[in-house]
Amino acid sequence: MTAMTNAAPDPRSPFVFSTLELERRAGSVRRVQRDIPTPTGFGTDMIVVPVDSTLRLEARLESVVEGVVFTGVVQARVHGECGRCLREINDELAVDICELYAFPDSTTDQTTDADEVSRLRDERIDTEPVIRDAVLLALPTTPLCRQDCPGLCAGCGEQVDQLPADHCHEESDIRWAALQELLDSRTGDTAGGAATGSTVLSPSGEQEN
Ligand SMILES: [Zn+2]
Ligand SMILES: [Zn+2]
Repeated sequence: MTAMTNAAPDPRSPFVFSTLELERRAGSVRRVQRDIPTPTGFGTDMIVVPVDSTLRLEARLESVVEGVVFTGVVQARVHGECGRCLREINDELAVDICELYAFPDSTTDQTTDADEVSRLRDERIDTEPVIRDAVLLALPTTPLCRQDCPGLCAGCGEQVDQLPADHCHEESDIRWAALQELLDSRTGDTAGGAATGSTVLSPSGEQEN
């Protein structure tokens, strides 16, 4: 899974790592740590890694026969909105990354497409597409402030967990109101029933039949 393009990695990008110091010998390792300002596009409508917040990357580059394996962890701050109650969400995310960047002249290079396996170009790897994909995959499709968030009251739109346990809206329920009107018209006695704007109250106890 990768969104690698054919463009050569831009050495000015903080997501680009040089593999020059890595000896081209299987087993050779280089450790890297970098704080990267988050570019746009790291998120969805509901939840994002805020632009310019820090993506903390700790990783290792390991030389293998076919190329360089990039493994590590990205830590990010996420900001969003609960999909049920619209409360603000501020959280942290840690995502594992593992990606092979194939050497230009390797068997992998000759037998796969660049959109299947990432490529090492000009002795550099661009980790942005891989990190972006991993972060987007790790973000929830419906973010919740907590797993059992009860959401909003259908009657008044208030957060249910902020309302008293016996909170309800008899009048807002149209079906209930219709039933009540029917009962009222049959008995002609609305005493004790919920009064609605269209109901004319008759004197209590009076029967009309
Ligand atoms: Zn919620
Ligand atoms: Zn309500």
